[in-house]
Amino acid sequence: MSAMLTAEDLSTEDYRAGLRSWLIERQSALAPYRSTHAATHAELVTLGRQLARELWDADWKRWGWPRDAGGLGGGPLHRAVLYDELGGQGLLLPETDYVAEVLGDATIRFAPEIARKLLADFVSGREIWAQGFSEPEAGSDLASLRTRAVRDGDDYVVSGQKIWTSNGYLADRLFTLVRTGTPDSRHRGISALLIDTDIPGVTIRPLTYASGLDEMAECFFDDVRVPADRLIGAENAGWGVAMFLLQFERGMYAWMRHVWLRGRIRELAAQVKATDTASAEALGRAYQTVCALRARSAATVRRLAAGEMVGPEASADKVLLATAEQTTLDTARQLLFPAFETDPAAEGWRSDWWYTRAASVYGGSGEVQRTILADRVLHLPAEDGRERKG
Ligand SMILES: Cc1cc2nc3c(=O)[nH]c(=O)nc-3n(C[C@H](O)[C@H](O)[C@H](O)COP(=O)(O)OP(=O)(O)OC[C@H]3O[C@@H](n4cnc5c(N)ncnc54)[C@H](O)[C@@H]3O)c2cc1C
Repeated sequence: MSAMLTAEDLSTEDYRAGLRSWLIERQSALAPYRSTHAATHAELVTLGRQLARELWDADWKRWGWPRDAGGLGGGPLHRAVLYDELGGQGLLLPETDYVAEVLGDATIRFAPEIARKLLADFVSGREIWAQGFSEPEAGSDLASLRTRAVRDGDDYVVSGQKIWTSNGYLADRLFTLVRTGTPDSRHRGISALLIDTDIPGVTIRPLTYASGLDEMAECFFDDVRVPADRLIGAENAGWGVAMFLLQFERGMYAWMRHVWLRGRIRELAAQVKATDTASAEALGRAYQTVCALRARSAATVRRLAAGEMVGPEASADKVLLATAEQTTLDTARQLLFPAFETDPAAEGWRSDWWYTRAASVYGGSGEVQRTILADRVLHLPAEDGRERKG
């Protein structure tokens, strides 16, 4: 692929066709990346980083990111096509890309200098970044976060704790939200700060799920001195950064997960060979939920690519994502019974079933999404009959 082309020269259709032939030509070289169940989360991350490097070095992964950040131009549509084609060829999607899709565009928009210096290493899998937003007392109510950052000369001095940080214990950098305003300033006193994990005072401890998956971490900051040029956006303007980034979490993240789910449905259909009507119907119903997610998510990704702001209606994407994840893995549990429960070979299915329970929690819980849709999209009256605000 010639680096002389620009995004205007390379339509997403040409990109798709070129990428597909490249993936097919390298079928055997790419065999280690066929979606398999890795023994540990760290192993899955390592495999994904290697694949990201191969795609970056061959330029395919540079499309979709701006030239100023080491890319070749284009935008979310090129990236959506990349994931679609990887999934279509039965390849895994790099774990680091789930986070890059959430954090990348916000870094470009609010901290172009940081993006120029660091983003290519993140997107190409050389570095791992993680999203440090949630705290023990601030999940759904993120505006109540308490991790404090006080300006001192050219640094911010950061103290506090983050929790549920995916890939946190593997991360080189944490994209955090910190309080720079008064304790009760809520969303008006929050800033976004990129913190390197090797700075003195940062302690990161892995957390393991009930399923045994070791994806999470809790991060502690004890008077950590972070250079002020690591601010993403203006001081006290972090809520705007988080809201911008949330659109990509709703759009691109869901698109990636739907690609993964389509692969899981294909694998399930091949394993079950549903010949009876009840099994075929169950598979069909699960597939329907994934198609609904794909249709909705494609529309949201197109809006992001057109530079539109995606508003509270994106909560519908999150509800559809959780429904598709949980229906698909519940169907696997039903159709693969009893092997699903006990067979060591079904460990991948079991582990995925567990993970999909979290789909109605991570990135905004189902209850909160439904309230947003009721209040701000459907404008339904409150349950006690009074008009809702907003
Ligand atoms: C797999 C996974 C990965 C994650 N990765 C990250 C990450 O990388 N970075 C990060 O910062 N965070 C991450 N999180 C944290 C996630 O964003 C929070 O779990 C989520 O925002 C919910 O917050 P909470 O867990 O504190 O639950 P709470 O906010 O305490 O909610 C508990 C329950 O109360 C309900 N509830 C709360 N408020 C309301 C309300 N106003 N109306 C109705 N019901 C309500 C919720 O729906 C939920 O059922 C991850 C979580 C999971 C499960």
